Amino acid sequence: MTDVMKKLQAIRGMNDCLPPDSELWEQIENTLKNILATHCYNEIRIPIIETTTLFKRAIGEVTDVVEKEMYTFDDRNSESVTLRPEGTAGCVRAGVEHGLFHNKEQRFWYIGSMFRYERPQKGRYRQFHQLGVEVFGLYGPDIDAELILMTARFWKKLGILNYVQLELNSIGSIEERSRYRESLLKFLEKNKAQLTEEAIHRMHKNSLRLLDSKDQVVQKILADAPLLSEYLNDESKQHFLTLCQFLNESGISYRVNPYLVRGLDYYNKTVFEWVTNHLGSQGAICAGGRYDGLVEQLGGKDSTPAVGFAIGLERLVLLVKKVNPDFYLSPKLDVYFVSENNTSRAKAIKLAEKIRDSLPQLKLKLHYGKQKISKQLSSANKCSATFALILGENEIAKQKIVIKNLLTGEQNLLMQEDLILFLNKIFIE
Ligand code: ATP
Ligand code: MG
Repeated sequence: MTDVMKKLQAIRGMNDCLPPDSELWEQIENTLKNILATHCYNEIRIPIIETTTLFKRAIGEVTDVVEKEMYTFDDRNSESVTLRPEGTAGCVRAGVEHGLFHNKEQRFWYIGSMFRYERPQKGRYRQFHQLGVEVFGLYGPDIDAELILMTARFWKKLGILNYVQLELNSIGSIEERSRYRESLLKFLEKNKAQLTEEAIHRMHKNSLRLLDSKDQVVQKILADAPLLSEYLNDESKQHFLTLCQFLNESGISYRVNPYLVRGLDYYNKTVFEWVTNHLGSQGAICAGGRYDGLVEQLGGKDSTPAVGFAIGLERLVLLVKKVNPDFYLSPKLDVYFVSENNTSRAKAIKLAEKIRDSLPQLKLKLHYGKQKISKQLSSANKCSATFALILGENEIAKQKIVIKNLLTGEQNLLMQEDLILFLNKIFIE
């Protein structure tokens, strides 16, 4: 088959979002955005593509994301660029570049596409969407708690709180982890015979990543392994304990999961994940944690503490659809405008503009095309409009217009000049 004849299709793992799904997406996004606004977080918009170095330096060379999932290519000037696989690195880069962190707190959120070359399956795509939050300049567990409480509020508002669980862990500092890594490695070396080649490879390159392995053999071996929590210093322990206290006080339930680590290198101290068992194996809908060293690592002048999370929107939408389908409100049409021929259509278009001027919130749709009035009215019913406006030859001649309540069948004949007043009475007063 020649290229010209090939059927055009979206790239594997990259989805179109079509109505009415796009409406559900919008309703979910607006719910989250409203909560963010009331918590005084500001939107930040950053490029979808950055230099490859940024992600390598931020995420870490020996991570799944950098090793095998990035969309990386040379641009026309032979500079290596990468479609963002996550949003934190870009936020930090932007903050450093524009001096946003000097003695300042920042509370940001972003929303948009991320790209990872993974095997597409339910809840895992190559282009997916995240809503992320990043807070800079605050050291304490209080802000960690605020982020967790805010996510709990998201779930409550979306009606899914009973279907998700919070998992929490502390992964300490880089030094604490490297001491732990040594003893974990020793332990794993002893049990090497039972490990697969893949696990051994990982053990040498990034042994901590083995902790959240889904491999049952690995999980069984790890049950006897030393725990990271035993290697935390007092400060890390205190941070974690205080966070737990804050959450207890606020009545948020959680499970401390000593095996929870994150797939990106920059995290320290608090890490958390919201998981569900209603989506099969892609159960994590939100993941986050603290990353106090990243700003400095990316060239920031002073050390700026930071904490954030990202929600996987595809998984969130799937979950809302599954466990709370009533969340979706199919948008109602207020008025459907029916007109008989071109003369009345011209008048309808003009009147519709007047209505939009006076009642800008009104949802108004005009019928186009040459169908008979009866056919137009059945279109009005099909899109669940509440009222139909009808303009035919007869009405035009007398400068009148019919308004029909499609729910009750009640019909009124009005002077066209009284229409706005009439609509005002129905919809505003
Ligand atoms: P997973 O373990 O599922 O691969 P991850 O640890 O790689 O997730 P993060 O980098 O922490 O994921 O991203 C935060 C959230 O973004 C995840 O919890 C998930 O909801 C979502 N996410 C990550 N990768 C994908 C993907 N390929 N498709 C859809 N959503 C994704
Ligand atoms: Mg992943």
